[in-house]
Amino acid sequence: MPIKVYFDYTATTPIDPKVLSAMLPYLRKDFGNASSIHQLGQISRAGIDRAREEAADFLGCQPQEIIFTGSATEADNLAIQGIIKKENPHIITSSVEHHAVWELCQVLGKKGLAEVTYLPVDREGIVNASDFKKAIKPNTILASIIYANNEIGTIQPIKEIGSIIKKANSQERKNKIYFHTDAVQAANYLDCKVEKLGVDLLTLSSHKIYGPKGVGLLYVKRGTPVKPLIYGGGQEGGLRSGTENVAGIVGFGAAVAEIQNPRTKIKNIKIRQLRDKLIKGVFKRISDVKLNGSKDLRLPNNINLSFRGAEGEAIVIALDQKGVAASTGSACSAKSLEPSHVLLALGMSDEEAHGSLRLSLGKYTTEEEINKVLKILPSIVERLRKISGIR
Ligand code: PLP
Repeated sequence: MPIKVYFDYTATTPIDPKVLSAMLPYLRKDFGNASSIHQLGQISRAGIDRAREEAADFLGCQPQEIIFTGSATEADNLAIQGIIKKENPHIITSSVEHHAVWELCQVLGKKGLAEVTYLPVDREGIVNASDFKKAIKPNTILASIIYANNEIGTIQPIKEIGSIIKKANSQERKNKIYFHTDAVQAANYLDCKVEKLGVDLLTLSSHKIYGPKGVGLLYVKRGTPVKPLIYGGGQEGGLRSGTENVAGIVGFGAAVAEIQNPRTKIKNIKIRQLRDKLIKGVFKRISDVKLNGSKDLRLPNNINLSFRGAEGEAIVIALDQKGVAASTGSACSAKSLEPSHVLLALGMSDEEAHGSLRLSLGKYTTEEEINKVLKILPSIVERLRKISGIR
């Protein structure tokens, strides 16, 4: 059955029609290489410049501080690998990072290229700012803490951590601590002004904000000593060589600008209302269900549920057969049979962590879609519980 109902906006979002219209000329007639001197090249350059300004406006920074990349994964890698060129660097991160940061830190730790502290989270998935303060060492050069989690939607105290780092840096230290946040899931819903957050580095992804896939960006505060991972023609201020994905970058700019549209705020209120209706309805209709993550410090579009005796993956498959697209957690780790490190960090057992279902909403979610899920989910869970012998 073709997908009719989409509840996987955290994995990716459809392209906004306005974004598509902004992109199309650059896929057709305005195909020039932005590095070319001729007029076609200059049209592409102007498109990229405009997108850079749109992104800078959203983040409250200078356009020159925006580096477009091929994905948010690449931007996260640039932020972390680009800064740890020092000897024996110490990184502080959390135990609920996206794989783009988590896996990289694991590899850096295993290869002995960095010493990594993974901050624990409480049962709601929140990092404690005073734990962060205690984790700072003389060789700490970088902190990378996700703004809002992709599996459970939990929002971290980025501003508070930013203030702690600012204070630590104002004291006598051999190494300055730079602060990176992955704001990929936060962008649609939370204030991303870099000055307010106190960050030096911030990652965004286009395809999570109704833009095209294959474009990300890294905000790099002026003076932050990031070294490139890719060498070549020196595009993006020398930090990301390679011919620019002009249409993708233009689309990303249009998508970022659309978040600033006052209508987005109104849509976000509606998303939260629909989300709360869905949670309430599930709890009313199904017993032995748990909402993972925080009730309050949570993105308005995220639901992550565990059903006793019914596996998340089996529920996703059954929903799919009824035309509903949902997820068990991170789309990027869906191929792995390992339970989610994020759910394990909440103190859940392996079995519980395997059981979760993520339903993520977006700006095109409708009341009818909520009603459809509420109609079919109880019988799916009941059938799976019967099979597993738990009723
Ligand atoms: N960071 C977070 C929090 C994400 O949710 C994702 C995508 O799932 C990424 C990074 C990676 O984004 P991209 O697909 O642009 O590499």
